[in-house]
Amino acid sequence: MRAAALTVDHGFAVVDLPEPTPSPADLVLRVAACGICGSDLKAHAFLPGGTVLGHEYCGEVVAVGAEAGEQGWREGAFVAAMPLASCGRCRWCVGGHPNHCAAFDPQGVGGAPGAFAEYVRVPAASAVRLDPVLGDAGALVEPLAVGLHTARAADVRPGDRALVIGGGNVGAAVSTWLRRLGATEVVVSDPSATRRDSAHLFGATDVHDPAEGPLPGGFDVAVECVGAPGLVQAAIDAVGPLGRVVVAGVCTVPDEIVPLGAVLKEVEVRFAVYYGFDEFAASAALLADGGVDPSVFVTRRVGLDGVGDAFRALLATSTDRKILVTPNTEVR
Ligand SMILES: [Zn+2]
Ligand SMILES: [Zn+2]
Repeated sequence: MRAAALTVDHGFAVVDLPEPTPSPADLVLRVAACGICGSDLKAHAFLPGGTVLGHEYCGEVVAVGAEAGEQGWREGAFVAAMPLASCGRCRWCVGGHPNHCAAFDPQGVGGAPGAFAEYVRVPAASAVRLDPVLGDAGALVEPLAVGLHTARAADVRPGDRALVIGGGNVGAAVSTWLRRLGATEVVVSDPSATRRDSAHLFGATDVHDPAEGPLPGGFDVAVECVGAPGLVQAAIDAVGPLGRVVVAGVCTVPDEIVPLGAVLKEVEVRFAVYYGFDEFAASAALLADGGVDPSVFVTRRVGLDGVGDAFRALLATSTDRKILVTPNTEVR
C-alpha cells in the first residue's frame, strides 16, 4: 500500500509498505480521510524517519480479526476510531481514561502506524460506527472529541461566560462544545483575522484581537488552546472568583505564573488531553445529527503526495483550518 512516511530529514515521502493484517481484536480500514492536526505539526519535527503519522481518520472496514468478528464487526462498516490502544481492563481503561493506561499506545504520533496511508489497523474496541453518508467528514470525530473532553474539564454550566484563547482547530472544537453545553457567551481570542472572522461559525459570540489590548475579564471559564508561554497566566487573569481554567495547549518550554491572583480568586486550574470512548461516541453523534457543519472545519483535501506541502502551508500561515489527507482519492 501507499503511505506518506516521514523522511530522516523530517519531510514526507510516499513509500510502499505492506498492507496491515488484523490481529484477533483488530479491524483494518481503507482510509477515507485523515486530518492533519497541530500535534502532527509539532511531532513531525522530531519523530524518526519511517514514521507514518495521522490520527484523525475514518474509513471502511476491509478486514476483521476473529475476536472482532465475534463482537459483530463486519467488512463494509464505516467507522472512526480512537487512535490509541490500551489494555481495556485496568482502572484507567474501565474509568474511561484509556490514555492513562500503562499499556497506552498512541497511534500515529510515534506509536502504531497512523492513517496517512491507504490502510490502517485499529483496535475494534476503539472504533465507533458512522453513517457512510458522512464520508470523509468522519475524520472530524477525533478533533471534536478533544473539544468535548476539554469543555467538560471546564465543568461548563448553563449561562456561563467563557473565553477561548486560540481560535485554531482545538479552539473551534472547544467553542462548539462550550455552546452546546450551555455557555451563553463564548469569546475567542486569536491574533489571526482569518480565525477571528470564522469563529462565529463554531459558536463564538464575540472575538478578541490580542493586538488591540489585554483580554477582557470576569469569565466563569477560560480555556487555553495554544500552548505558548504566558497564556496560562492570561487565562488565570481572565476569570473571575472561583473561575475555572483549562489548559489544552501543549507548551513544551517553562511557563511562569504568579500564583497570587489565582489564590485570591480561588481559581481552579486543570489540564486536559485526549478523551474517553463516551466522548468519542458523543462527537460521532453530534456529526450524525448535523450539530456541526463539517464544511466549516475542512478547508481542503490533499492526496498522499500533498502531505509535505500541506504541512508547510499549515506551519507558515493560519488561513487553512483542517486539511484532510485522502489516501485513496485522487485530489486535483
Ligand atoms: Zn489531533
Ligand atoms: Zn488499561
